[in-house]
Amino acid sequence: MTTNLVTVAYIAASILFILSLGGLANQESAKQGNLYGIAGMALAIGATAASAPVNNYGLLVAAIAPAILVGALVASRVAMTSMPELVAILHSFVGLAAVLVGIGNYLQPESGLVGAEGTIHQVEIYIGVFIGALTFTGSLVAFGKLRAILGSKPLLLPGRHVLNLLLLAGTVALGVPFLGAEGTAGLVPLLGMTAIASLLGIHLVIAIGGADMPVVISMLNSYSGWAAAAAGFMLSNDLLIITGALVGSSGAILSFIMCKAMNRSFFSVILGGFGATGGSGSGKAVEGTATPTTVEETVEALDAAGSVIIVPGYGMAVAQAQHAVAEITKILRDRGKTVRFGIHPVAGRLPGHMNVLLAEANVPYDIVLEMDEINEDFPETDVVLVIGANDTVNPSALEDPDSPIAGMPVLEVWKAHNVVVLKRSLAAGYAGVGNPLFYKENAQMLYGDARTNVNAVLSQLTTTTAAPALTAVA
Ligand code: NDP
Repeated sequence: MTTNLVTVAYIAASILFILSLGGLANQESAKQGNLYGIAGMALAIGATAASAPVNNYGLLVAAIAPAILVGALVASRVAMTSMPELVAILHSFVGLAAVLVGIGNYLQPESGLVGAEGTIHQVEIYIGVFIGALTFTGSLVAFGKLRAILGSKPLLLPGRHVLNLLLLAGTVALGVPFLGAEGTAGLVPLLGMTAIASLLGIHLVIAIGGADMPVVISMLNSYSGWAAAAAGFMLSNDLLIITGALVGSSGAILSFIMCKAMNRSFFSVILGGFGATGGSGSGKAVEGTATPTTVEETVEALDAAGSVIIVPGYGMAVAQAQHAVAEITKILRDRGKTVRFGIHPVAGRLPGHMNVLLAEANVPYDIVLEMDEINEDFPETDVVLVIGANDTVNPSALEDPDSPIAGMPVLEVWKAHNVVVLKRSLAAGYAGVGNPLFYKENAQMLYGDARTNVNAVLSQLTTTTAAPALTAVA
């Protein structure tokens, strides 16, 4: 394939990637967005494989075929609840690839660049390897935290900001002998910087705990994009630069949105000053007596309600209760009730987690509302069903300045007339913080697995629907 044709293919692939991102911004067009992305990637791989520098097809197939197989197998088998871990580990691969490409590129004897061009190339390599190493280890720690191999509590070493600055200064200092070295003599400082950047990645992410993890995931998503863009500069591959920049900037925008949702400062995140939770303490001890309820009482409350808001959380994903929830929604709406969903931006374990589950269960998009769109409506709502949500409906975020989640905007479900919480116990959520909601006078606990209980509510609702119909026939 001629260079011109490859360029045209790269431009087409870039456009497809942009269309893909545009499509993913909206649930209705997300499927199409995915298709654009797949087409763009197929075109990119095809054009690269057919370009002049690639001539060893045996090696290419040997490298790509097992990767495609493993990737397809893992992606098709992964449960929705394990998706965040998969995303985190995939980010780590991008980081590792950038490190390996950088070191390989440095050792490549025939790069032939001299003078200013040579220096620029070396800077590209140095920065690419730095971002790659940071992304690699940071993503591994995020993976460990999401998979509960590592605790969700932040590890806050004394003087950690100074430590971060020292590590950063170390990487800058090693840049001097690296840039001054002849040939490949700079390998030792390059490897030294890789080790320090890896430590920095571990330290930055391990210092972040509980409810702040979504910001980390989206930041690592952004870093992986910049690592890919840096690899693109090293390899002089325009498409990799564009794709990396798209991932990097969209990840940064997502981080900004997440920071807003968590009420954290975007710039303190960017500058690495994150990890401290909102409040300074561990929060007030939560005490009181929770009121248990039954499936029958829940159905009665739903039957008597004119307006219902359903607030799903991570527990709904674990229980896979979304299909039964969608059926309950349909029945209640058919009976003339107003039923809507309230979605917290960090509900579940990955951005958009709840939206994906509800879309999968065919819940109409127009009744799925974001926190900001629905928060003012709780006082006029008869019944709120909280299904496996906890941190995202925790009043102590607003009421207790010492709470680790203080300042995080939450869905103010307790302002409704009646709240039914479906979960297995009074246990805390991901942030490990007690929840006073469970002890409020207008809240009742429907204990048990969310799917079992939602199914029980559904079957009772179905029987109560059938009764008037039979009477009408008689
Ligand atoms: P939480 O993690 O706060 O709470 C989920 C609740 O679900 C638990 O308290 C648990 O209680 C319950 N649960 C678990 N399994 C079941 C089941 N089978 N049936 C019924 N209930 C169940 O969830 P939220 O969605 O409210 O909040 C998300 C949290 O995760 C936030 O702290 C957020 O910061 C964090 N996070 C979010 C990410 C994102 O990108 N969205 C990424 C990383 C972290 P019990 O054991 O009593 O049943």
